[in-house]
Amino acid sequence: MSEELVRYPGVVLITGAASGMGAGHARALGARGVHVCVADVADTAPVVDSIRDAGGSASGHALDVTDAPAWARTVEEIRTAQGELGGLVNNAGISRRLEFLDTPDEVWDQVLRINLSGPFYGMKAVAGLMRDSGGGSIVNISSISGQIGYFSPAYSSSKWGLTGLSKSAAGSLAEWGIRVNSVHPGLVDTALLDGSDTFVQAALGSIPAARLGRPDEITDVVLHLLSDRSTYMTGSEVTVDGGLVSNGLYHRILADAGGDLS
Ligand code: NAD
Repeated sequence: MSEELVRYPGVVLITGAASGMGAGHARALGARGVHVCVADVADTAPVVDSIRDAGGSASGHALDVTDAPAWARTVEEIRTAQGELGGLVNNAGISRRLEFLDTPDEVWDQVLRINLSGPFYGMKAVAGLMRDSGGGSIVNISSISGQIGYFSPAYSSSKWGLTGLSKSAAGSLAEWGIRVNSVHPGLVDTALLDGSDTFVQAALGSIPAARLGRPDEITDVVLHLLSDRSTYMTGSEVTVDGGLVSNGLYHRILADAGGDLS
């Protein structure tokens, strides 16, 4: 199917869009004629400028996703300046690779606040404007850590929570024409993996695709879920992991067995 036939919302808000995958989603949407609201605690100007320099339209929003009043202010800014909002990507997230008994209470609280409370505040804040805009699509960036057991309790619980929160919101917001789906990346090459070379190297042995994911491979799925090519998808979990969840276990067992199936 040719790309020009795909339709996207006129205005999309992306959190954590100053860097990493969020910045990639923002640039891809900007290149497709979408006005991108680039939100982050970090400086959004470089991403906004790069979208404008490429001929697109974007605005920067200082938004800490844990701050519910700041969400309300951001949505009001968008209502005033753009008059509509058809998409939200809850992408902002942090990872702390700490084992269960090594996880301080403050880390637990911080990870849950950013990765789970943030999307909750966000969906509540945008729902009214999306309804007034004729409906929309919300994409929550969870993780495979929100689908399987993962050693780090705060990250895993936050992403499992986001998986459930997405399904809950999908049911409630359907009457306003708002779809909600979750995306579950495996290991993707961004700054989030900085300082974990040993972990990443060891993980590669469980990935049938035998490599990390590229940010643009996650962007493709986000674009699909925001577009009119997914109008009957809501409450779905989309795993994008090179086969890690579905086949990682036997991939590793077969490799360890060295091809000996006896
Ligand atoms: P990243 O660290 O490169 O970017 C995260 C962005 O979120 C940064 O720009 C940061 O400033 C922003 N951010 C952090 N706290 C914030 C807050 N309170 N409010 C607003 N913005 C905040 O990470 P990434 O790899 O691009 O990850 C994007 C999303 O994908 C995250 O939710 C992450 O959990 C998820 N994810 C990543 C991987 C991976 O392997 N990289 C795998 C699965 C899921």
